[in-house]
Amino acid sequence: MRFDLITIFPEFFAGPLDHGIVRRAREAGIIEVHVQDLREFTKDRHRTVDDRPFGGGEGMVLKPEPLFDAVESLLGHGVGDSTYPGPTDAKTAIVLMSAAGKLFNQEAARRYTQFERTILICGRYEGVDERVAEHLATEELSIGDFVLSGGELPAALVIDAVTRLLPGALGNEASSQNESFSALPSADLPLNANSTSRVSNHTLLDFPHYTRPAEFRGWAVPPVLIGGNHAEVAKWRSAAALEKTCRNRPDLFAKE
Ligand code: SAH
Repeated sequence: MRFDLITIFPEFFAGPLDHGIVRRAREAGIIEVHVQDLREFTKDRHRTVDDRPFGGGEGMVLKPEPLFDAVESLLGHGVGDSTYPGPTDAKTAIVLMSAAGKLFNQEAARRYTQFERTILICGRYEGVDERVAEHLATEELSIGDFVLSGGELPAALVIDAVTRLLPGALGNEASSQNESFSALPSADLPLNANSTSRVSNHTLLDFPHYTRPAEFRGWAVPPVLIGGNHAEVAKWRSAAALEKTCRNRPDLFAKE
């Protein structure tokens, strides 16, 4: 799978994508990451990527022309205009990172593993000319209900979440099936302690993990984990996952 990043800060990605699973996936050729400097697609001496907002107000807005040109250069074909839309390609996603986008979650990460190529557009300043969201991007994605100063961290986060779901990226294939937000077979779905509701989207948070020492500063590991009874361990883990989900993310429980 290929990722293209369009950004005014190409150096930003030198760190975040060079460690651990993402680094190994790059080295193994499971993913390819290309970084495109948006300023290369400006035509003026000052390499201007932004301009003042129509209608007034503070801040600057990323102009549409360099972004359309950058994407077209990556695609190798035009994307058209209001009178003549260009060809679309179901295997390529063009994503605008945006606090006003649809929420990126584990289900979205799984959906993005299906694309051959994902182009991620990183906004800055007050945001991006809306015609990019409407006529260039195939989707606008937000990584959470908060506002960051740029789309670079969100884009790196999307690459990380999608990459670790690709076949071969994790050493142990089971690890991505048994973690927070992974689907549970419906027979395993626990009932919410205080109602008849079940976990929405069939998801729970991960169960708590412990390692040595068995006692640390007086805090002991739950004895069942040391006992060696696999059935009891499995039972404890699913109860602990349920308890933790109730405590930290009650919103994941939906009333039937
Ligand atoms: N005025 C905008 C925020 C702009 S922040 C608003 O109120 O919605 C500048 C850039 O940071 C955005 O264009 C986007 O690319 C990125 N960004 C900020 N928060 C984000 C989030 N939660 N998810 C994804 N991208 C985000």
